[in-house]
Amino acid sequence: MVTTYKNYINGNWISSKSGKTFESLNPATEQVVGKFQKSTRDETKKVIQTAKKAFPNWRDTPAPQRAKYLYKIKELLIKNKEKLAKIEVEEMGKVITEARGDVQEAIDIFDYMAGEGRRLLGYTTKSELPNKFAMTVRNPVGVVGLITPWNFPIAIPAWKIAPALICGNSIVFKPSSDTPLCAIELAKIIEQAGVPKGVFNLITGGGREVGDEIIRNNETLAISFTGSEATGQYLVKNAGIKKVGLELGGKNVIIIMEDANLELAVDGVLWGAFGTTGQRCTASSRVIVHDKVKNKFEKMLVQRVKKLKLGYGMKADVGPLINKAAVEKSAKYVATGKREGAKLLYGGKPVKIKGKGYFFEPTIFTNALSKMKICQEEIFGPVLSIMGVKNFEEAVKIANGVEYGLSSAIYTENMKYAFRAINEVETGLTYINSSTIGAEIHLPFGGVKKTGNGTREAGIEGIHEFSETKTVYFDYSGKLQKAQIDNGE
Ligand code: NAP
Repeated sequence: MVTTYKNYINGNWISSKSGKTFESLNPATEQVVGKFQKSTRDETKKVIQTAKKAFPNWRDTPAPQRAKYLYKIKELLIKNKEKLAKIEVEEMGKVITEARGDVQEAIDIFDYMAGEGRRLLGYTTKSELPNKFAMTVRNPVGVVGLITPWNFPIAIPAWKIAPALICGNSIVFKPSSDTPLCAIELAKIIEQAGVPKGVFNLITGGGREVGDEIIRNNETLAISFTGSEATGQYLVKNAGIKKVGLELGGKNVIIIMEDANLELAVDGVLWGAFGTTGQRCTASSRVIVHDKVKNKFEKMLVQRVKKLKLGYGMKADVGPLINKAAVEKSAKYVATGKREGAKLLYGGKPVKIKGKGYFFEPTIFTNALSKMKICQEEIFGPVLSIMGVKNFEEAVKIANGVEYGLSSAIYTENMKYAFRAINEVETGLTYINSSTIGAEIHLPFGGVKKTGNGTREAGIEGIHEFSETKTVYFDYSGKLQKAQIDNGE
């Protein structure tokens, strides 16, 4: 018996008037995990109105009071961590240790943002005129639309919901149609925490209907979007003038210099390339390795990859891809890589387990060239390309020779290489002697070039995405004072 789940609107669980539902599948077994409301554009318009009505009371609730709800959500997430992680394994397919990490990230961000309730800092400064006071304050934006992908189905929504709530916004949240159950479970926790009706609303349905309305509607004053570059481009063209935060794709790189600790580098490459089956925006899909150590590194890497167990997330090192289309995409890039002349070192094929599942072998290409499609385009699967280089300068040139700029890593014992990488590699994140993945929630997260539009999530900058700076001039002189004129040179 498959459960049909509802939308969470104005504190109630309600069905779409469309009478239609869609299914979410377990990518390891292809079984249906639930049915979800296929909501309409009109319904989305109404949810936005609901959020608008709830906004003034939430805005006027003191931020330290708002924080109490966030602390409560955090407590409930801790209590339900194992349950949520297992649901994630079922619906998204990631392995259980990573699923626990995903929930932990949500716990951490609610904890961090609750603390912001007693800060939300502006600043004061001196006016250029006497008897006048100047300061900035942080105000909420209003109704914010949150649109999220499936690869971190609890953490990414939490990265947006926590700062949006603490800043005093009301929310219309549309999760990925591949992982709506994880979103529903998160919504249940927000409901249980007692967040006032209408402040947080969840509506499921297609990106082209529900998502599109959220983007275009004049009453959503901010959109926070994480997903593909193609949808990001669409959003920028159609949202009109509003605050837009974009976290898009990546073509992340690990540079391994001749002096690197190769054991450590292999650990980092395995984790970066095949963790989450390569389905992280920060996944390491390119390795640039110094020619002097390339052969040795490849041998060590292949030995380790052979030991990775592919399978159902409760019992494996590498889980399935999200859906059939993702398997086809990885297979297409393997064929392209071969055609382009890269050497297939390991893997390359789709796999079924007991006749089911969207599995794909961890795959390694070597002797790849930067201009090849496998080294340029985001594959979002377990496909790694290795390129050899003669020196650091060549490595940086290749690292920067892509349109994306999310994450990079360098393995070296030479601090000059490390600091030059920090300066010269064009990414929003750089790791030294660690993989391209592993963001911590109290630091800003985001990328440059086509990965984003300059906003950052998490850390204090996550607050900026969901608030507006208001500048206040308080004149107590009792007369008209003219800036730049009364005290001009
Ligand atoms: P996607 O296809 O762009 O979908 C993301 C979200 O946008 C989904 O909720 C989707 O709804 C919705 N959507 C689709 N078309 C829309 C439209 N026309 N208007 C409004 N909303 C629309 O991306 P994905 O496949 O879910 O996620 C993978 C991508 O996310 C990768 O490129 C990855 O790099 C990126 N990502 C980036 C970060 C980061 O922080 N930089 C983090 C994680 C993932 P439906 O599901 O209903 O289609």
